[in-house]
Amino acid sequence: MAAVRQKDTGPEMAVRRLLHGLGYRYGLHRRDLPGRPDLVFRSRRKVVFVHGCFWHGHDCGKGRLPTSRIDYWKDKIGRNIARDAKNVRDLIGRGWEVCVVWECEIAHMGSLKQRLMRFLEGELS
Ligand SMILES: [Zn+2]
Repeated sequence: MAAVRQKDTGPEMAVRRLLHGLGYRYGLHRRDLPGRPDLVFRSRRKVVFVHGCFWHGHDCGKGRLPTSRIDYWKDKIGRNIARDAKNVRDLIGRGWEVCVVWECEIAHMGSLKQRLMRFLEGELS
């Protein structure tokens, strides 16, 4: 699974099901946008990324690096973090709003639902 770009992963499907169930409609992985966001709400000009905590370097228990080959992982995950940040900057530069959902948030669907709805409805969180 190492280098494969994660697609249709559990967390992403959970977010898609949640938002679809709430009546939201969206595009997926649009190639014409930086980072190919997981969910694209074109008319709202908003995108959602669903990030795996390990690969994208989340500051949580699941994002902890392995204790072996620490320099390798630091470098690899560090590059992912830098690339994610650049994608967000590029999207904002093009007038998009960006929300990042972390894999670990899936365990708290209630609060995730509220956060996503605030983001999509444009209220300040
Ligand atoms: Zn996390």
